[in-house]
Amino acid sequence: MLKKDNKTDVIVVGAGPAGIACAITLARAGKDVVLIERGTFAGSKNVFGGAIYTQPTKELFPNFETEAPLERRSIAHNYMILGEDDSTTISYRKQGNGSYSVIRAKFDRWMADEAKKAGVTVVEQTVVRELLKNGTSVVGVRTELEEYYADIVVLADGVNSLLAKQTGLRKDIEAKDVALSVKEVIKLDKEVINNRFNVKDDEGVIGQIFGGPMLGILGLGFIYTNKDSVTIGLGVTLEDLVKNNYRPFELLEQLKKHPSIAPLIDGGTLKEYSAHLIPEGGYKRIPKLCDNGVMIAGDAGMLVNNLHWEGTNLAMISGKLAGETAIEAINNNNFSKKFLSQYEKSLRNSFVIKDMKTYKDLMDIMHQRQNAFLNYYLKKINSFFEMFTTVNSVPKRENYWTFIKTIFTDRKISELFKDLWAIIKLLWSILV
Ligand SMILES: Cc1cc2nc3c(=O)[nH]c(=O)nc-3n(C[C@H](O)[C@H](O)[C@H](O)COP(=O)(O)OP(=O)(O)OC[C@H]3O[C@@H](n4cnc5c(N)ncnc54)[C@H](O)[C@@H]3O)c2cc1C
Repeated sequence: MLKKDNKTDVIVVGAGPAGIACAITLARAGKDVVLIERGTFAGSKNVFGGAIYTQPTKELFPNFETEAPLERRSIAHNYMILGEDDSTTISYRKQGNGSYSVIRAKFDRWMADEAKKAGVTVVEQTVVRELLKNGTSVVGVRTELEEYYADIVVLADGVNSLLAKQTGLRKDIEAKDVALSVKEVIKLDKEVINNRFNVKDDEGVIGQIFGGPMLGILGLGFIYTNKDSVTIGLGVTLEDLVKNNYRPFELLEQLKKHPSIAPLIDGGTLKEYSAHLIPEGGYKRIPKLCDNGVMIAGDAGMLVNNLHWEGTNLAMISGKLAGETAIEAINNNNFSKKFLSQYEKSLRNSFVIKDMKTYKDLMDIMHQRQNAFLNYYLKKINSFFEMFTTVNSVPKRENYWTFIKTIFTDRKISELFKDLWAIIKLLWSILV
């Protein structure tokens, strides 16, 4: 609850996974916390693919598997490599409960209700416009209607955090460091989904799509099964969209028409269309995440592991760690940058920064070699399987040699060496 003079222990801006995780951690420790959300309710403005991950979600909501509004339990990960009119799919399948597809408007709302039950004051339909400062310290926020004061403000306002920029900790995101994602939710009967995706009951499938309309550009597609709908979308870096003059919804239309995708959504009706940004800069673009009286969590701090499609888990755990640091700060009555830097230390010791560091060179290498890895080799994988599956009375050995020769005629040897070097560099940076 707010104290008499509109001052509370902590203000958290943004009721996404990061903000809710932070707020609930504080409230469970008996601290006063106000969570401010601009949407009509938590989740109303939130867009993702997508799946939430069981282990980190359980850390915050131990009973979520029986209590939260979940769509399907992911039992298969399909990696689909689309050529112009063909495709190769690698599917990993195992019964388990490592992740669940959810609809954020329902799931975030449920998380916010849990936060309210824990004692968080949730203020909805309120946009935080500005940070209030006393000298170099953040001491509160200004909304459209009033000013709220706090010992600590946690910014969990998502990828486009205008407030993080006001702290001076974050600069404008460069076009190469952010992807614009568009997606559609397409309604289909539950049984139709089960048949098309080869699942039963509440089982679900996560599909990651390479190539197709995104051949040669830094972009990926996705398809997720919900209870009675399928989410399909793609994300492409702003830089590539602008450079190629592509419109994301046109790319999505092309993806939906691809012969390997169209049958999955055939006959469905469009339920929802949305667009959102995804931080893509990786480890090298993570800003400083604290200053006097302020911490930054989740997408606002660019904490997304794009190779593994992990964002909500990094948001939840960074929010939780920011909450834990805030508890210590309140107990010690010390809200200085130095004290709050414990949060950055905890993040560095956790999988959040460790994983981001593991892939620190990934985006640079992909930018440099995108025509190789997101175009040439994707097509080559499909043409290998075309060769392998074609029955044409040509002796198989001849077919193999014809295929091998094309590698050296299609692509300069110097480029092949550069590709190999890039792979070695990438593997080295990941493994060592
Ligand atoms: C298309 C797409 C697919 C994705 N798929 C996955 C996936 O499958 N799995 C996964 O783990 N991650 C996925 N992600 C990433 C994931 O959605 C994000 O990493 C995660 O939502 C970040 O959580 P957050 O709390 O930091 O930010 P957000 O979820 O963006 O929440 C920020 C909140 O702050 C509010 N807000 C913003 N500004 C203000 C303001 N000034 N005042 C008040 N409130 C404000 C917003 O309304 C919002 O509720 C995907 C993202 C996209 C776009």
